[in-house]
Amino acid sequence: MASSTPIRPQAKTILGADIGGTKLATVLATPDGEIRHKMRLPTEAERGAEHGVARLISMLRRNLNETGTDPADVIGIGVACGSPMDAQRGIILGPPNLQSWNPVPIKAILESEFGIYTQLENDANAGALAEWLYGAGRGVRNVVYMTMGTGIGGGLILDGRLYRGSNGNAGEVGHMRVVDRDGPRCGCGKRGCLEAFCSGPSIARRTREALAGTGESMIVQLAGSLEAVSAEHLFAAARQGDGLALHLVDETAHYMGVGLANIIQAINPQVIVLGTIATQQGDFFLDRVRAVVRQETWPQMAKVVEIFPSPLGDRVGDYAAVSVILQHLTS
Ligand SMILES: [Zn+2]
Repeated sequence: MASSTPIRPQAKTILGADIGGTKLATVLATPDGEIRHKMRLPTEAERGAEHGVARLISMLRRNLNETGTDPADVIGIGVACGSPMDAQRGIILGPPNLQSWNPVPIKAILESEFGIYTQLENDANAGALAEWLYGAGRGVRNVVYMTMGTGIGGGLILDGRLYRGSNGNAGEVGHMRVVDRDGPRCGCGKRGCLEAFCSGPSIARRTREALAGTGESMIVQLAGSLEAVSAEHLFAAARQGDGLALHLVDETAHYMGVGLANIIQAINPQVIVLGTIATQQGDFFLDRVRAVVRQETWPQMAKVVEIFPSPLGDRVGDYAAVSVILQHLTS
């Protein structure tokens, strides 16, 4: 039980499992990225880890059965999930939206169930692998991937491989400070983190703060009420020319651009891929971020870096899980 099932590099398919707080997604794919079979079911986190794991196993079993795939024809199972985790030993340690999954030795469970090599990776690192192997970072050696969703996660591909750092925490770019002192309190406990300005909930909070006391605004009209204001309403109002909304979008781009400039100065990447909100808003937002980056970064580094929305979009989770295995076949 303790010894790991070996990877089968000669096999023809990869299984991927994306474990989230609201949904479970599994895929059976080929190494060149053809998704042959896909399953998606609610996690039902409130029913506990045992229920979720049993559901995940039945989904993977259906991926195999409905494509007539023998487990011996599978290279490995890639599993992407939120941190904290012991990625090396393949143990999920109760991420914020899946607290009952603590601990879940998913590697040992799936290897004993299927006899297929299994590897666990945190979802931001797995997303970075996906953008590098299938998305905007293909063929490039230095890629930074950042999400702009509920939080700001990140993953780094350096010199053609995932960079994990000294104890697996590299790439937590959302928690670099982007103001010199104080700043809003971040969920991590620090003040002035990038995430405290530019995650979806932080953008919404900053917008509501700016709106308080200003009376009528297009942002509130779109949202229906001040309490309902989200980042989406802000961008929609900015696209229609609302002055306050444009100011807040510029401010968001400023913090994002300062954060990216810090990363660029440290690691000199060729490609930065921004997911979620940045992908939804596209060049309307990214052109503003690019302008800040040009201003805040040394020209010799600014000229080699390109900033893209994620071409994988909301399919990134499927490719992320598969990429956790595929990375072993490409280096
Ligand atoms: Zn933080």
